[in-house]
Amino acid sequence: MSKESPKCYMCEENATGKEHVPPKCLFPKSKDLETGNDLRKGLLTVPSCNLHNLEKSGDDEYFLNVITGIQGINKTGRQHYKKQIRRRNSRNPSIIKRFADKSIEINKQLAFEIEIERLDVFIEHFACALFLAHFGNKWYGDVEWIPESFAQIYSHSEEQEKIQLISSIDLMFNNIEMHGKNREVFMYQVVKDSRGTKMRLYFYDSFKILLLFPK
Ligand SMILES: [Zn+2]
Repeated sequence: MSKESPKCYMCEENATGKEHVPPKCLFPKSKDLETGNDLRKGLLTVPSCNLHNLEKSGDDEYFLNVITGIQGINKTGRQHYKKQIRRRNSRNPSIIKRFADKSIEINKQLAFEIEIERLDVFIEHFACALFLAHFGNKWYGDVEWIPESFAQIYSHSEEQEKIQLISSIDLMFNNIEMHGKNREVFMYQVVKDSRGTKMRLYFYDSFKILLLFPK
């Protein structure tokens, strides 16, 4: 029997545990769902060192607050927010303060400014974990990501390439196989072309992120 322990999905350290992809906190507990379904069964995992375990960083909670804060997410996402996230936030004043400090009013609706750098770190880790879980080998290059749900942030002309990419996403992923076990929480598609690998992620049906792994 081999005693060699697996390496972390993100670095060359030996893994000390497992990281769920996506993090477990995105999946509601069955007691919090009207259907009582167990959505935490059969989740993807990758080996992880202590440093790169996102569940210990709190960044997964931040990401969860961002994606459940948008309009149009499905019932599972809304129930998860009502039953669990709100409750957890009330025990964690720092996260409320973080959002309150950054809130702004747009079109008479309260919106909050996203801490992009913080999401950046989270999504880069997430992308590397999903790449390993899907392909079985690690990604060593850079990862770019485009939050489709905030595509309006790319309204400046210097981001032409991204605007063009966003407008062609639906066509690009039309009829491409969907992956993911508990799809009401998370599912994804993969497209490979001459420029690299693209993954389109769906959280609660409507929060979408495009990942780019350039060649
Ligand atoms: Zn690591």
